[in-house]
Amino acid sequence: MRVPVLVLNANFEPINVCSTRRAIGLVLSGKANLVLNGRGEIKTVSRTYPRPSIIRLENMIRRPRPRIRLTKREVLRRDDYTCQYCGQHTSYLTIDHIVPRRLGGRHTWDNLVAACPACNHRKGGRTLEQASMRLLRLPSEPPASAQYLFARHLHDNVEWLPFVQDW
Ligand SMILES: [Zn+2]
Repeated sequence: MRVPVLVLNANFEPINVCSTRRAIGLVLSGKANLVLNGRGEIKTVSRTYPRPSIIRLENMIRRPRPRIRLTKREVLRRDDYTCQYCGQHTSYLTIDHIVPRRLGGRHTWDNLVAACPACNHRKGGRTLEQASMRLLRLPSEPPASAQYLFARHLHDNVEWLPFVQDW
């Protein structure tokens, strides 16, 4: 019952992921309808329900445009778990402030990159120029597209892909 279900807004925009239990509650109370099942059925004493994979809300929910939260995990994901100095692809990475904090560098998307410990150590508290180091690409805030937001679920729920593309 904790298997994730994709929740679409009334206009089909993917907005959330909820548990199977919550999704069934929304459908039974008439707040959402079933868009996709294909996961078999859930049997109770008196009834059988299709197990939802995607539901759609009956009423449009208004909300601000989503943004990606600035966290270490999200910086590493944006940089595809690749050191932005040497290109090493590894799960053991640190976060480097391009302009060091003691030199006024800020904790922002365009001043943070994934760096392997060796590169981070080599750069130390210096700027790129001082350390004679170059970035593979200039960092920026990742677009909060649905495909980016829900990427971690798509491997296990490939049937969601057509519903999150182009949002
Ligand atoms: Zn490196």
